[in-house]
Amino acid sequence: MRDYSAGIPAGQADDSYRQWLSRNPSWVVVNRATNRRGLQTLHRANCDTLSYPLASRGDKQRSGKWCFESLAELEDWLKSQGKMLGDLNRCPRCME
Ligand SMILES: [Zn+2]
Repeated sequence: MRDYSAGIPAGQADDSYRQWLSRNPSWVVVNRATNRRGLQTLHRANCDTLSYPLASRGDKQRSGKWCFESLAELEDWLKSQGKMLGDLNRCPRCME
């Protein structure tokens, strides 16, 4: 698991994050921020919302998230948080 929960600053950290995303499109990412229903959103690594160029929106950093290289790794992490897969919002752009 890669812990980017404090956010990802532009530059080397963001380059490394985007390289990770491109290594396997089926790996998954959970956003730290919650939606209106109070749920964190689950994405596939290839979701276009995860890797847009920061400069294109004038952003200096990307919002906090956690990256997982398998569903098992994600489920272990969720368990440690007292949560299950069903407690996550599935991104409508990449998960349906
Ligand atoms: Zn998505």
